Order: sequence, then C-alpha cells, then structure tokens
Amino acid sequence: MKKQVIALLTAAMMVGAMAGCGSGGADATTAAADTTAATTTAAETTTAEDTKAADTEAEDGAETTAAEAGADGKVLVMATNAEFPPYEYHDGGDIVGIDVEVAEAIAEKLGMTLEVEDIAFDSIIPELESGKADIGVAGMTVNEDRLKNVDFTDPYTTASQVIIVKEDSDIAGPDDLKGKYIGVQLGTTGDIYASDYEADGSTIERYNKGFEAVQAMQQGKIDAVVIDQEPAKVFVSQNEGIKILDEALTVEEYAIAIKKGNTELLDQVNGALGELKESGELQAIIDKYISAE
Ligand code: GLN
Repeated sequence: MKKQVIALLTAAMMVGAMAGCGSGGADATTAAADTTAATTTAAETTTAEDTKAADTEAEDGAETTAAEAGADGKVLVMATNAEFPPYEYHDGGDIVGIDVEVAEAIAEKLGMTLEVEDIAFDSIIPELESGKADIGVAGMTVNEDRLKNVDFTDPYTTASQVIIVKEDSDIAGPDDLKGKYIGVQLGTTGDIYASDYEADGSTIERYNKGFEAVQAMQQGKIDAVVIDQEPAKVFVSQNEGIKILDEALTVEEYAIAIKKGNTELLDQVNGALGELKESGELQAIIDKYISAE
C-alpha cells in the first residue's frame, strides 16, 4: 500500500508540474485533475510521518529520475504508424487513438512530453534501434522474431488476426484461403500468418496500409484481407459489402517496444503501465474507443 501511495504521490507531483506546461492540451489537464483528486484520497489515509518517509524513499527511486527528466522537459518520442484505427489514426490534423492516449498517460507519469512520429510500420523497430524514437506503440504484437531486435513491455491488450472478405465471397474460413490472393499490411503478423499459405499456392499482396488492402479487395484485385480484429471492425463498419469471418486466426498480445537493453526506460514504462492498469485508466481508454460486444 505504501509503495502505491508513493507512486501516486510522485505521479501527481509530476503531473501537477506538467499541467502548467500546457504541452498536452485539454486532455492532459483533465487527466492531471483526475489524478490529483485520486491521490488526495490516497494521501488522506497516510499519516504525515508516512508521507515524509515516502518522500525520502522516493528520492532514491526510479520516480525521482523521471521527475528530474520532467524538470528538464524531456521528450518521449513515440514511433507509430497512424493507419491502424482504433489504436492510431488521423483525425483531421491530429493523430489519435488508444495507443496515443496510453502513451500520453505514460509520458505524463514519467514527467515527459510525448512526441508522436508517424512512420511506416516496418520502420518502427529500426527507428528504435537507431535511437531516433524511444517507444514503439503501434498495436505491435510481441513475437519471437521482434524480441531478437527489441524489448517489449508487459502487454497492454490482447488481439487476434481475422479474415475480411466480400459479403458474397466463397471463402468461409482459413482453409479456403488456399490458392487465393490474400492482402495484408507489410511486415505485420497478418503478413506472417498469410505467408504460410504461399506453400498452398496462395499469392500474398503486401500493402503499406491495411486500408489499401481493403480497397484492393473491393476493386476485385484480391480475395481476402488478413488483419488485426479491431482495425478490421473499423474498416468493415466504414465500407459497404464486406464482412469479417467469425473464426479468429491467432491469439496475440500488444506491447510497447523499446530499444534492446534500455532497461531503465523499460522499467519506467512498465511501472507507469502497471499503474494505469491498476487505476482502471488503461481500461477506460480502451473502452472509449472499443465498445463492448
Ligand atoms: N499487430 C500487428 C503486428 O504487430 C499489426 C500492427 C499494425 O499494423 N500496426 O504486426
């Protein structure tokens, strides 16, 4: 309990400091107000002595490092590919979505300012490796291959691949993908999954954006699209005449990618993510974009 209070107090202090900077816009201010309110309740249950002890302890902890970073106005650069609703997408001139809000909440907790960099999905890991970006948040599935090149935080949600077809398609399940033209987004787990079908005579068409694959299918260029479930739901809701097949093809976990060996940042982000899970803030962000079935 004490640890939790320390974390909350430190986070609130940092968020409070951040609120004055005005970097995060209206949302950040709201979040700051919420956190402060929650903390007051937690602090009330703590005696003055406890609080003092907490302060001393916190000075040696990771939170202090983050607070110092905040004092310097340190920027946390998030690499993403904003073609993946509801996780990241363009809304007018803004890049919004679950991942953006989660990253913003993490940056706030670390006393940092979030900067979002929109690049090709398959450039995200190289960008982390070269140090140009700090975190890759892009509905990115944890898998063995990627773990060779980057570290992942604890997962923040689960996901699966699904098949989108035209409403009148003769494809009713994964077996029917054999010999067909399958569209995917380049370098994704959908690409990896569909590529197995090449041995069955299927042709894989790789697009830079998932939506381009959907468009190609509507133009009759390909027979099916394999893509993550939530973006699939968005694309199907926005376009006539296409549907998602019931059978989910994979079970996956999304996590935040960080440069291999940067355990300091990994620990900090995991700490912040843990707090967001515990407070219910993470679920609230997800619920804002994904309605329960
Ligand atoms: N979850 C998929 C992957 O990690 C797709 C991510 C994406 O297209 N942004 O490959």
